[in-house]
Amino acid sequence: MQKKDRYKAFIEYFTLNLPEPETELNFSNPYELLVAVILSAQCTDKRINMVTPALFEDFPTPEHLAATHFDELFPYIRSVSYPNNKTKHLIGMAKMLVEDFKGEVPADIKELQKMPGVGRKTANVIASVIFNQPALAVDTHVYRVSKRLGLVTQNAGTPLEVEKQLVKHIPPDLVPKAHHWLILHGRYICIARKPKCEKCPLTHFCRYYEKNVAAGKDK
Ligand code: SF4
Repeated sequence: MQKKDRYKAFIEYFTLNLPEPETELNFSNPYELLVAVILSAQCTDKRINMVTPALFEDFPTPEHLAATHFDELFPYIRSVSYPNNKTKHLIGMAKMLVEDFKGEVPADIKELQKMPGVGRKTANVIASVIFNQPALAVDTHVYRVSKRLGLVTQNAGTPLEVEKQLVKHIPPDLVPKAHHWLILHGRYICIARKPKCEKCPLTHFCRYYEKNVAAGKDK
């Protein structure tokens, strides 16, 4: 199957079956999403959703977060991965948000990336989820699933390469949705250790399935 046909099938399936995908992180404004996404690096959304209610309650604005200090904030996020670094990042991010951006989360990916704890992936999530820009954040699920499906070349070695290939083939208005489609599929069906191909509705265009399962090599 040619790559353009895989993209066609991918888009057809998900626009029909998951037309309005959403992030599983809980938030009610751009500031809260930025905090949640910074916290979610190398951690599960479920865990982040357990710690953010108290955090958002006691630090409801960037100004509140910018005014705190390490020892006060750390206990709120003690249970997430890398709490030391993330505590420093959150305070640094809030300070910059207040001092350089008047407390408003910027829409520009380069501006977002100036803030502590905000890499390209986090910036892309904010740009797409909040500002509906055609930015595609490549996390471990997007990276793995897009390769298995054959949407990107097998030798794409970095998240940035994967991002560029995906964005080239997906219509801009669907890029924010494609990010969620790939994440959710990777989280629940095309899991890292062993993909659940027997339950997967994408076998008819999946490269991994074609090369391994259908060919009888995945026993
Ligand atoms: S068929 Fe298997 S490898 Fe392909 S997307 Fe589905 S679960 Fe993943």
